[in-house]
Amino acid sequence: MSLHLYDTRTRRVRLFEPLRPGHVGVYVCGPTVQSAPHVGHLRSAVAFDLLRRWLLASGYAVTYVQNVTDIDDKIIVNAEREGVSVWELATRETRSFDDAYRAVGILPPTIQPRATGHIPEMFALIADLIAAGYAYEGSGSVWFRVGRFGDYGALSNQRPDAMQASAEAEAGKEDPRDFALWKAVKPGEPAWDSPWGSGRPGWHLECSAMAGKYLGDVFDIHGGGLDLVFPHHENERAQTVCASAARSHDGAGEPEMARYWMHAGLLTTGGTKMSKSLGNSFFVTDALSQVRPQVLRYHLLSAHYRSSLEYSPDALTESAAAYGRVETFVRNALDILGSPEEAASLAAEAPPAAAPRSAKGRGKNRPAGRPAAGAAPAVVASPAAAWAAFSAALDDDLGVSRALAALFGAVAEGNLVLSKTHRGELAGWLVVVRRMLTVLGLDPVTQWPAAGGQVRAALDGVMEIVRDLRSSARARLDYTEADSIRDRLRDAGVIVDDTGEGQRWHLA
Ligand SMILES: [Zn+2]
Repeated sequence: MSLHLYDTRTRRVRLFEPLRPGHVGVYVCGPTVQSAPHVGHLRSAVAFDLLRRWLLASGYAVTYVQNVTDIDDKIIVNAEREGVSVWELATRETRSFDDAYRAVGILPPTIQPRATGHIPEMFALIADLIAAGYAYEGSGSVWFRVGRFGDYGALSNQRPDAMQASAEAEAGKEDPRDFALWKAVKPGEPAWDSPWGSGRPGWHLECSAMAGKYLGDVFDIHGGGLDLVFPHHENERAQTVCASAARSHDGAGEPEMARYWMHAGLLTTGGTKMSKSLGNSFFVTDALSQVRPQVLRYHLLSAHYRSSLEYSPDALTESAAAYGRVETFVRNALDILGSPEEAASLAAEAPPAAAPRSAKGRGKNRPAGRPAAGAAPAVVASPAAAWAAFSAALDDDLGVSRALAALFGAVAEGNLVLSKTHRGELAGWLVVVRRMLTVLGLDPVTQWPAAGGQVRAALDGVMEIVRDLRSSARARLDYTEADSIRDRLRDAGVIVDDTGEGQRWHLA
């Protein structure tokens, strides 16, 4: 199967065909840098990071553009409240968004344009729209003439005559649905001189200008959160499609802005959308003081990107347990195999088909942990079959639930051969598990080295001592002492499993 993606505009899953073979241009609406990021912002960012990593793993070169909205009503209000300039506030919060993205392993954008750095491009766009009758001046502002674009409403699936008025001030508008391309200056606010008077750009306009500059008027994928479909993306599309039609005189009709429009579902708490206005917002810095960043990333990835995802302490605990099982397998397998390099060469030597499943005597090392809800392992006959199932799942509109099932299936099979006697087989499973984790941005070896780097070596040494203490307590038949050590370790977040091949430990 090759990649299929759900397109919001056509409302169906379609075969993905890039405009240029081997290359994909993606524009994702970035943050409005008005205050520190909350976990809801990361949901959409992680979803599009998975898309990007899967495109890369599938062999595409990807140009990934994500803008920064650094001028906006709320930035102005918040800066005034703090007594700092809008530039200072926007710079500081751009950095906090970058930090949050980096913390959960999101690849940095290829291009990260800022709205205020693209005022001349916006002027050119407005001029083209006015010249072709798609926009008009009124009371110092410039408005987009919604009634002139016959396809308005197609993206958000609304009939133009049934649509509500845009939220913007009425002054100078011909039609309540018209929206601002350029906003007339207000006293005390930052403003730029323009051919239509002093003012600042409308929010929707900036994305059309930046997407057009870096990807062209027609490009492959436009993404954002589900809450951006209307009015933001509807208006972006209207601007770009009309400006593009205004510029081309070949009568070819209005080209589509993006060939695929993708929207990530929202993060909810108690079934309600997470947002600051509801007071149920969770700042990323708060979340990361409670949960490891790779667990937060796992949690945000664990539901299909188009569904809403519940964010609660219980849900996070479940994700921590599920990801912990994968980490534990990787760690135990590396303990047996030596190093990732040795595992890779062993896996290359091993026969492609694994030994028959459920061979006698292989089940005794099956770990106590059970898969968490939503992460039930799929039955996979071989590492190659596991990869095929994982690929097919992601090719089907990033079907992450089935991809995770393939991952957990491979982990379950790997756990069955977790011993020195099955090194070749174990290596095969370890290699495929890490290959999948790399696509998910969750490989504990190379992508999250802090989880097993310098600290790991020190902790290994400490645990060696603790294991010796437990062993000698048992040798003295002092089981109370041995159990007490195990219980105290559990309270400290370290779980010790007594297995047929000795004691193994992992973080809770
Ligand atoms: Zn946008």
